[in-house]
Amino acid sequence: MNKVNVLGVNFDNKTLNQFQNEFIGRLNEHKSTFIVTANPEIVMSANENPEFMKILTSDADYITADGIGVVKAAKMLKTPLPERVTGYDLFTWLMKVANERNLRVYLIGAKPAVIHAVQEKIARDYPEIQLVGAEDGYFKDDLDLVALRIERTQPDLVFAALGSPRQEKLLAILRKNLLPAVMMGVGGSFDVFSGVVKRAPKFYQEAHLEWFYRLVKNPWRFKRMLVLPKFVNDVRKSRKEQK
Ligand code: UDP
Repeated sequence: MNKVNVLGVNFDNKTLNQFQNEFIGRLNEHKSTFIVTANPEIVMSANENPEFMKILTSDADYITADGIGVVKAAKMLKTPLPERVTGYDLFTWLMKVANERNLRVYLIGAKPAVIHAVQEKIARDYPEIQLVGAEDGYFKDDLDLVALRIERTQPDLVFAALGSPRQEKLLAILRKNLLPAVMMGVGGSFDVFSGVVKRAPKFYQEAHLEWFYRLVKNPWRFKRMLVLPKFVNDVRKSRKEQK
């Protein structure tokens, strides 16, 4: 089975390694490529927002399981996915590829101080990257205008860290215009990459309590986490409907 359907979202049934090989192939061929890394929150949000669901169904070229919740759901539905493939891991890997190949990269998203720190990090650690654009995610322009601005720089790679579904809306415009780049929404990745937001200490990571650490640090995340029990419940319901 090529695709695994979890509550209407078609995930690609591929390992990290398989994804990487395909992305390299498409980079070589300059094929317009739109990658979505979807976690349970994104699946739930698409179920409530038809416009977002349509982007995932019609515009995205690849959808990876960004989160153990999606991997577990696929298993419950008896159509397992091989592994979790996170946006952050793909992002850091693609940046490494960009540095090795001297590629043109456009970054958009996060707070001004964060994107500034990201620029500094790239100059220091990824000196071969041609950074053709780096702008924060708090612009007022409409997305069509932003898309035009990005297209003019002829990037090989575009990363948007605007939160969902806004980042996917922007990338869907570029994909429809057939921008010959590999494009991916990366959520909070710039915050972590810049070092402005720290990952949880090892203890929390090893105890699978990273979510708890983040919750204590950012109590506003509580409301977002409330969709998780509903996600599990809806997957259970959809399993019953399968029978
Ligand atoms: N963000 C932005 N513009 C906005 C709202 C958010 O650039 O108008 C950025 C925010 O600074 C953060 C990223 O979008 O860097 C999304 O972060 P979040 O933690 O919500 O991402 P997720 O958990 O969905 O991956």
